[in-house]
Amino acid sequence: MRNRLSETSERYALGLARSFSDRQVPQAGPGRRRRLARSLTDRQAPAAPPSPRVSALLDRLVSLGIKGWPERMTLHTGPLPRGCVPCLKGRGSNVSLTTLCNRDCFFCFNPKPRADDLSVHGRGAGSVEEAGRILASQAPASVGISGGEPLLFPDRTLALIRKVRERLPKAWIDLYTNGGLLTRDLLERLKAAGTGSLRINLAANAYDTSPVRLALLFFPDLAVEIPVIPGHEPRLRRLMTRLEELGARHLILHELFRSGHNADRLDKAGLLRRAAPRLRPGLTWSGEAASGESCLRLLAWAMEKKFRLGVYYCSTGTQAWIAEKALGSGVRDADA
Ligand code: SF4
Repeated sequence: MRNRLSETSERYALGLARSFSDRQVPQAGPGRRRRLARSLTDRQAPAAPPSPRVSALLDRLVSLGIKGWPERMTLHTGPLPRGCVPCLKGRGSNVSLTTLCNRDCFFCFNPKPRADDLSVHGRGAGSVEEAGRILASQAPASVGISGGEPLLFPDRTLALIRKVRERLPKAWIDLYTNGGLLTRDLLERLKAAGTGSLRINLAANAYDTSPVRLALLFFPDLAVEIPVIPGHEPRLRRLMTRLEELGARHLILHELFRSGHNADRLDKAGLLRRAAPRLRPGLTWSGEAASGESCLRLLAWAMEKKFRLGVYYCSTGTQAWIAEKALGSGVRDADA
């Protein structure tokens, strides 16, 4: 495996800004990292004020009793998934096990060309052992293991989970997967190794819920986590109804993200406008406005339906907030 800065941690809100190399930030002490975060914030365009349509949606959500922080678009209808709680405090970390994948989603914004790279919180690691050492020095309260598709390499995934368990016995571990490679036997082994829960991206398999039905037998607290594709709202309402019937507890919605790694394919899909992206502080990608509005409507719909399924909108505003916290005062860095 080659060591290379991965952007996967940015995707899940735990990232380093592109303005910093993977060497600069780790060598900075907490005060310098706070100053770096502030200077980055100063250089980025401020988040645009909400449009009248978004303001009206927010008002509707507030009147329905939405939880969270509307000012940064961190909104949820029920309890948050367990791994999200420390993450929102800047106490989460992320391991990208590989950027190889068995899918080729048009919206995927992992670095291309794909490579079998292992990285921790955006920092290259040469082995599972080294990843465990970096994580232990960060002392996060939750760890997300993502990709690519980590389950392309089940033995490496299991070894990493065991390593995290050994180094950080109290940390919560979420495994991100598109679900296509889950089997009963693998689920049993993931559970036995110490995985806390799964995050399943059903947008990668046309919203087929069969992996969720199987995985719920082992991980009743799992979350389905998807980008919201503009135009897919009717399908997503059907998905939410099906998840409610299955007894799933968590659905996490993201805006569809645009970055240098997926912009061409988003344009070719014809779904999105070509407006120049306005970057949020701390992020090198932007959310699509039409997707964000869909997320707000889906939250309201779930509340009006009184679903037990908790729906959480983890927006780019939320992720900018977390990225800044992680840079300024969050996860303790190995070399800080
Ligand atoms: S399943 Fe995930 S990592 Fe794989 S191509 Fe789709 S979005 Fe990218």
